[in-house]
Amino acid sequence: MKSITRSKPLEEIKQRLAKCRQVYLIGCGTCATMCRTGGKSEVLDMKQKLAAAGKKVTGWMVIPTACDVLTRDALKENAKEIAAADCILVMTCAFGVQTVARYAEKSVYAAVDTLFIGTEETPGEFIEACLQCGGCVLGQTAGICPLVRCAKGLLNGPCGGSVDGKCEVSPDIACAWQMIYDRLAATGRLDELEEIEPAKDWSTSLSGGPRQITIEDTEEKTESQD
Ligand code: SF4
Ligand code: SF4
Repeated sequence: MKSITRSKPLEEIKQRLAKCRQVYLIGCGTCATMCRTGGKSEVLDMKQKLAAAGKKVTGWMVIPTACDVLTRDALKENAKEIAAADCILVMTCAFGVQTVARYAEKSVYAAVDTLFIGTEETPGEFIEACLQCGGCVLGQTAGICPLVRCAKGLLNGPCGGSVDGKCEVSPDIACAWQMIYDRLAATGRLDELEEIEPAKDWSTSLSGGPRQITIEDTEEKTESQD
């Protein structure tokens, strides 16, 4: 499961960097590399494009997993080149951008848009897998999320419009409920389709600010390890 990203238009990036003459570039070896938005070749390509736009790239790195806490060490190791820059352009998903912003004492700009949490179905083809609703129903739906895979987000499907296993909304989309049916059938669980899934409690989804949880005892353990 990865953060699926898309590169921002170069013109938008140049506008954001208008006040920066010297730029440091950061990519990510995980999700952004898979999405071809922030791997080594995209970072080097950005370096060339910024040079053509009159910017000086003081240095660059592709952090193995930019959202990881080890990013802090990577920033320290490259402190000299980063210090020489006016800002950092981060070519990673939003998690990587936030991690860099947390540890770097420079202006941080995002070079990519984070679209969704998904998987690579075939090379270069990504599909959404989870919208992090906070109340997972995968156990009831054979591991296929009806909220993101069904065009109507039906918790009790199918809708009746499926044709030859395709969604009525588009023949290019597989019907999620056909997939759920097939997987339940393959594992001898078709009887579960007769159980009605109650209306979803959306209070666990994103609303009223960032969601956060604390795992019991974590603080105590963290303190005793320090
Ligand atoms: S039911 Fe909610 S948590 Fe589970 S996969 Fe779907 S969106 Fe994600
Ligand atoms: S055809 Fe299938 S995927 Fe499309 S809306 Fe109906 S149940 Fe959902």
